[in-house]
Amino acid sequence: MKPVYHSDRWREALKMMSRCPICSAEYGPEAAKLFAKNETASLVHITCAACGSGFVAMIVLLGQGLSSVGMVTDLTLADAVRLHKAEPITVDEMIEAYQEMQQENFLIQSFRN
Ligand SMILES: [Zn+2]
Repeated sequence: MKPVYHSDRWREALKMMSRCPICSAEYGPEAAKLFAKNETASLVHITCAACGSGFVAMIVLLGQGLSSVGMVTDLTLADAVRLHKAEPITVDEMIEAYQEMQQENFLIQSFRN
């Protein structure tokens, strides 16, 4: 079945996330910003006006149903927009970073650069 998609349906899911998980303040109407979407999923960044905490939610629209998963984040909206488009880290890059950290003078090199 082809998913039914309406551009504003992600706002329905936000009703379930009406409060900040850090300070419990209610989110204002302008707190949530849609920063990415495809046919079935929307990514929304919410900034709490009271404590400044960030929250990213993925809202999935399938047929008549709505599902969401979210996490507290230290990313700002600008970070989320920028990093969403970034290439994923490769296994080779992870191994290289691990090997760099095992160097005895890793921290000294980091401060010089
Ligand atoms: Zn808050």
